[in-house]
Amino acid sequence: MSDDPHVGARPRWRVSRELRPEGTVVDLGRGVLLGGPEVVVMAGPCAVEGRTQMLEIAEAARAAGAAVLRGGAFKPRTSPHSFQGLGVRGLELLAEARAATGMPVVTEAVDTESVPLVAEYADMIQVGARNMQNFGLLRRVGGTGKRVLLKRGVGATVDELLLAAEYILAEGNEAVALCERGVRGFDPAAPRVFDLNAIPLLRALTHLPLVADPSHGTGVRAHVAPMARAAVAAGADGIIVEVHTNPSEARSDGDQSIYPGQLRELVPECEAVARAVGRSLASPTAAPAAGGDP
Ligand code: PEP
Ligand code: MN
Repeated sequence: MSDDPHVGARPRWRVSRELRPEGTVVDLGRGVLLGGPEVVVMAGPCAVEGRTQMLEIAEAARAAGAAVLRGGAFKPRTSPHSFQGLGVRGLELLAEARAATGMPVVTEAVDTESVPLVAEYADMIQVGARNMQNFGLLRRVGGTGKRVLLKRGVGATVDELLLAAEYILAEGNEAVALCERGVRGFDPAAPRVFDLNAIPLLRALTHLPLVADPSHGTGVRAHVAPMARAAVAAGADGIIVEVHTNPSEARSDGDQSIYPGQLRELVPECEAVARAVGRSLASPTAAPAAGGDP
């Protein structure tokens, strides 16, 4: 019997832990399992900006100990005047970075039309916070059968997040991980509230793996590492962190992007915290031999 008062309230939902008490493990490929005993570090730039930028950051992320590479080719921007991503070229660069590092790639699909294209390149498709309740998009990514990283909307309740995931599972796709990335708060000094509370709550409610995003959760470079460590302590199965070699020149989310050197410090810290809570850290896939395509 769980002592969590929320458990048992959602018995017929496909995401409910009652249906799979042991939890779901999402196989991200290349030996990386999300939702198992090992905590997975995902890292990379907010947006793919160019070949050198992407390949340098990918190599730095792998060398720092990250197991999965992130990077947006299609960016959901608040302003239509902001950089929208490199599109197909960005996907090609992600594929090149995957071949060079051996890391599985997570990248976002921002609309239903681009889902088949993104699915061709991505190991895991991200549905962003702004699209959490884009039900057509949820059905479409569910239909691809690809792994999905579903981010919580900034004003979404935990039940709304679970029900959004339900749309994907209803398409027969259970390879879904949920991502806490902060909600909108009331304090101008800290406008983003990284809802760590949601991690143990979601853990009790759902069998799906849980990822935490302290980059969007805080929006502040200096706050990323402490909240990443806290997320691992709270029981996250993975963290996703934005990294940039030159954040002041980044075309999106530079203020919250950490330097590769900071990631190199953060990974062993997360490993220490993981061990303290009875887990370990997923090791990065071995880099393929030069010129080799794994
Ligand atoms: C991102 O991952 O860069 C992103 C835009 O995330 P979110 O949808 O959580 O804002
Ligand atoms: Mn971002």
